[in-house]
Amino acid sequence: MAKKQFKAESKRLLDLMIHSIYTHREIFLRELISNASDALDKLYYRSLSDDCTGIDRREFTVTLTPDAAARTLTIEDNGIGMTKAELEENLGVIAKSGSLAFKKETEQPEDIDIIGQFGVGFYAAFMVSDRVTVLSRAFGSDEAYCWESEGADGYTVKEAQKDTHGTTIVLHLKDNTDDESYDEFLQPHRLKALVKRYSDYIRYPIRMAMPQSRLKDGCDGDSPEDYETVSETETLNSMVPLWRKNKNELTAEEYHAFYQEKFRDYEAPARVIHSATEGAATYNALLFVPSHAPYDFYTREYEKGLQLYASGVLIMDKCADLLPDCFSFVKGLVDSQDLSLNISREMLQHDRQLKVIASRLEKKIKSELFAMLQNDRETYETFWKSFGMQLKYGVYAEFGKNKELLQDLLLFATSENDTTTTLSEYVGRMKDGQDVIYYIAGRDRDQLARMPQAELVRDRGYELLYLTEDVDEFCVRSLTEYQGKSFKNVSDGDLGLETEEEKENARKQEEENKDLLTFMTEAIDRKATVKLSNRLKSHPVCLSSEGGLSIEMEKVLAAMPGEQGQRFKASRVLEINEQHAIWATLQTLFDTDRDKLKAYTALLYDQALMIEGLPVEDPIAFAQTLCALMCE
Ligand code: ADP
Repeated sequence: MAKKQFKAESKRLLDLMIHSIYTHREIFLRELISNASDALDKLYYRSLSDDCTGIDRREFTVTLTPDAAARTLTIEDNGIGMTKAELEENLGVIAKSGSLAFKKETEQPEDIDIIGQFGVGFYAAFMVSDRVTVLSRAFGSDEAYCWESEGADGYTVKEAQKDTHGTTIVLHLKDNTDDESYDEFLQPHRLKALVKRYSDYIRYPIRMAMPQSRLKDGCDGDSPEDYETVSETETLNSMVPLWRKNKNELTAEEYHAFYQEKFRDYEAPARVIHSATEGAATYNALLFVPSHAPYDFYTREYEKGLQLYASGVLIMDKCADLLPDCFSFVKGLVDSQDLSLNISREMLQHDRQLKVIASRLEKKIKSELFAMLQNDRETYETFWKSFGMQLKYGVYAEFGKNKELLQDLLLFATSENDTTTTLSEYVGRMKDGQDVIYYIAGRDRDQLARMPQAELVRDRGYELLYLTEDVDEFCVRSLTEYQGKSFKNVSDGDLGLETEEEKENARKQEEENKDLLTFMTEAIDRKATVKLSNRLKSHPVCLSSEGGLSIEMEKVLAAMPGEQGQRFKASRVLEINEQHAIWATLQTLFDTDRDKLKAYTALLYDQALMIEGLPVEDPIAFAQTLCALMCE
């Protein structure tokens, strides 16, 4: 029979499995038991929702049978089973889950450990076997099929016989070599230890069929013939789900292993949140904050949600209603006895208990993140790199509904130090007489540190938040204030730093030079209003804005897909520093050479655009004017 080929990606992973000198190869057992348990869950769920008869849930088991003579280990379940098409689809191609996507991203030659860190699923069987046989019969079907493979060169599927639904996997263990022994996977005590270690919480009994030596009736045990071998089964796992156990009984290692296996992550989580609550809602929740964003996190494909269990039975894999969008990165599960097993999705959405649980979890997640921020800043900073953007969007989204929840979790770059600051830290450092939180928005902090607009504010010794992310300014504007302090963009019209006298002076200056300023505004076709600056000290010009929309926000909106963003324009102001020598020149030119004044104004405007990181509208004209001046 011709062998069918594995899909290309699967083949790569298989090669990796087969050839890894793999220290954690024992995890193959955990993977196969977990698949068996999933298959039982599926049947369990089916038995609740469909009009099914003949399923006895008390019979659900996973059975391990080591056979030392044949060198095989059999893992059997009476779960949902697979049809022929499912065998091909599921075992002929690697699950889309993270493993390969991750490998491609990093392309590490020493990938062996990475495999050890997270689930690789069914393929792990090839780490210990040179042949794998899968006999399966789908629930509700009379036909059974046998899938078999010796590794990367392909697999066969043929019709077979099987009396009951479920799946039986026979691992033909590899031969021992000089350095490697696979015998351990035939030894009952070793298998028992592995089940205890990795699969204790599986909620179906994992049984082992073990040969036992027993004294024959009527014999006295003097000779070996007095004994017979019988097969006895023993349940190996305690079946208490991890989340139902007491916190004190669990180690970080156990939590991490559970998370990594269940949520397919190659890294341990940044934080584990385990809570048991009684009262208005009774539930156990086990939540994890991942230490890095999944590769699809910032895409539409990413689906948020927590696993939802009703009294230990999985009723929904990704219950979105349990997590607000701002915490969509949280993984985990909730198990509640308040929910009915066969509640429909529609009913679930309106379920009062679920709403109570969701709101409790929201508070809990916030307080845990806050604790992490306060007690373990380093880990929080790492967390922030992955998910900070999500929190900032959270402030801005839904008309600022969640801003109270999130404001204390935010980090910003600052002029104060090279790392980050919270808003509360900023407010704590505010100087006497400073009554607003200043910020400046732009691409990167080095640039921002030198921006002319900030000169006056910096001169006063006031700290500046550096808003370097697209979402930052929208976030800050949604907040409008923090602890009674409002936010102020240093590019905004009035900074409120002048005395009445200075203001009066400025008005006079403005009045005296009205004609010149109007001329200059016309010279650049009113693309910006030319004004005298009250914020510049040494720089000749800068661009600022009047009204609600800043130049940075205009840039962000313009970069959004679609036409809509293009419609928003900041009203620009070209500010001229009257202390700078250029001002005297401009005043002279107004009397002597207005053509030159026009050219100079255009040049100054282009410079201000460049400083702001905006494109010069006509670079050719800019270059020509500049050169013409150089040649004078
Ligand atoms: P994953 O578990 O991440 O989906 P696997 O490679 O372990 O990846 O398994 C692929 C698929 O094969 C599973 O999603 C499941 O549909 C099917 N499968 C594996 N083992 C069993 C089993 N014992 N019973 C029924 N289906 C199974």
